[in-house]
Amino acid sequence: MSKVATRFAPSPTGPLHIGGIRTSLFNWLYAKNKGGTFHLRIEDTDKERSKDEYKDQIIKSLKWIGIKYDDDEYIQSTKKKIHTDIVNELLQNGYAYKCYCSNEEIEEQKKRAKQKKIPYIYNRKWREKNDADAPKDIKPVIRFKSKVDGSTVLKDLVQGDVQIDNNTIEDFIILRNDGSPTYNLSAAVDDHQMKITHIIRGDDHKINTFKQIQIYLAMKWELPSFAHIPLIHTTDGKKLSKRDKASTLDDYSKIGIMPDALRNYLLRLGWSYKDKEIFNLEESIKYFNLEGIGKSPSKLDISRILSINEHYIKNTDENNLYSQLNEYCILYKKKIPSDKDKKIKISLTFLKNKAKTLEDIYNNAQYIISDQVNFNDEDLRLIDQTSKKIISEFLGKITRLNELKKEILEPIINELIKSNNTNFKGVGQPLRIALTGSKFGPGIYDIIISLGKEEVVKRLSNKIFS
Ligand code: GLU
Repeated sequence: MSKVATRFAPSPTGPLHIGGIRTSLFNWLYAKNKGGTFHLRIEDTDKERSKDEYKDQIIKSLKWIGIKYDDDEYIQSTKKKIHTDIVNELLQNGYAYKCYCSNEEIEEQKKRAKQKKIPYIYNRKWREKNDADAPKDIKPVIRFKSKVDGSTVLKDLVQGDVQIDNNTIEDFIILRNDGSPTYNLSAAVDDHQMKITHIIRGDDHKINTFKQIQIYLAMKWELPSFAHIPLIHTTDGKKLSKRDKASTLDDYSKIGIMPDALRNYLLRLGWSYKDKEIFNLEESIKYFNLEGIGKSPSKLDISRILSINEHYIKNTDENNLYSQLNEYCILYKKKIPSDKDKKIKISLTFLKNKAKTLEDIYNNAQYIISDQVNFNDEDLRLIDQTSKKIISEFLGKITRLNELKKEILEPIINELIKSNNTNFKGVGQPLRIALTGSKFGPGIYDIIISLGKEEVVKRLSNKIFS
């Protein structure tokens, strides 16, 4: 068999959907697992709805999540001549015919089918007619002469044998009357031209597969293998659509989900390998197979995405995590000031333990990033006379220190607890509020060490605590 080649073939008519990314991931991993190639084909033949901004977003999204395609993007609209040549060949060889039905006629048939509550299927009126009967004022469309007898079995690599009666496939249009080829024609021709061996795509394309197979057979091309993957549903069981809130990559990246985590989540969404949950890239390529794809729709689960992201945050080394955080801040927040990067980098050792997203880290690091302490009014009200005394006593002690280390700070805090007849919270809370503006956040030793002596002294010397 020839070398495995897969493709992802999105239409740039809207932002790339999370389901599309998963399809693309499966195709890519399958090709890499087999030592083959993976290609990106932009199906931009619908000139009215296709937009460059969506094409750019597709390319950017694949790059963000780490999916790399071979060669340049294959742009479908540049191949129109090849597509129309094949239409003519099919016409000449008797596999297609001109249909002169007017729009009104077709609309009327569709209306009648709707009234009878049956699916509309073109009545094959022009299939056996002669061109000589053609009305002069109507430009014909070209339809494929589908098989009417018998049945076809699709040997689907995910769903097994799928059989349909041939008469349920209509004589579908392959060339519109404005001379533009349709999706089924262009996709089949391109897949053949690109020597695609495995077509892995959403379940919703199964009916198209039966149409495209007929084109392959008519052209005597070697058939590729097909794998249809069940769609992704929302938590309430509906088909995920572009209108859903958490449906595009951007929805995830803007809350600080990391690319590796989302890739890992999408890999496991509808695919499994033993009971393994976490797959780094190497393992994803090594273990991916079509046998592991489930047969029923998978449910999108945001809490699972967050917990995988949390796992990745905890297990990413600080340098790498810092650069991802920085990128995230540049894109969605504010760039981390350069005089703060060292402090943040050191603080990631503890900040990463209390974060599910990069946004959490960003929020929890505000006390370092911002020079101004933003006090939470309610928390500030907790600072009573005793708290002020504790703050001032701690300030007196820390001013004399040369080095900030937990081993040095701990006895000081313990002493304050004792002399003020209180507990750890009684000392830790006022200090935390004074230093960060809030009673929530990292541990007090981490806060003090990450801010450094100069900043701690400055913040505790604030007049509101005297
Ligand atoms: N352009 C089609 C889509 O976005 C691609 C279908 C296919 O993979 O053949 O749904």
